[in-house]
Amino acid sequence: DAAVAQVEGLIRDIPDFPKPGIIFKDITPLLGDAAGFRTAVDLLADSIEGPMPDYIVGTESRGFIFGAALAYHIGAGFIPVRKPGKLPSDVYACEYKLEYGTDALEVHRDALSQGARTLIVDDLLATGGTARATGDLLRRLGAEMLGYSFVIELSFLNAREHMIDAPVNAIVRV
Ligand code: 5GP
Repeated sequence: DAAVAQVEGLIRDIPDFPKPGIIFKDITPLLGDAAGFRTAVDLLADSIEGPMPDYIVGTESRGFIFGAALAYHIGAGFIPVRKPGKLPSDVYACEYKLEYGTDALEVHRDALSQGARTLIVDDLLATGGTARATGDLLRRLGAEMLGYSFVIELSFLNAREHMIDAPVNAIVRV
């Protein structure tokens, strides 16, 4: 598909970032390309099947970029899920495991009303830890989860197998 190829062609491999042995998928060429960025957001919108979300939920920080653009495009609200200590009002927090140690994500307790339809958006799915933590937060808020949507999926990590609570969509699977 030409649109998917356009997006894929604007994602750059950076070896040994942020540490030796890791090949980082750099999305900044995609963001900087007006047509490519628009195509990526259009593809995220096109992949929504069934009811439209009331809210796009974006995970700090690259999930904010695609998530906010998608929310504007489809006429949904945007809910930021942030690193600890950033949100000013009362939060729910969810800890999740990293390769070494733990991290946490937070969301405002009053971000949405019970049963609101939500779609989680992030730039990249790797192990799935970030996405699963975001899903946990949405369950605590009483949200309906329509799915997870990513620009890139590192499919060799098989994160999808552990994300059985909602459908997983990715534009580019590598
Ligand atoms: P996971 O929790 O699935 O292991 O990692 C995904 C999270 O880490 C996402 O929020 C994503 O932004 C970030 N991430 C991990 N690896 C990469 C990468 O190679 N490129 C980009 N752009 N983000 C990454």
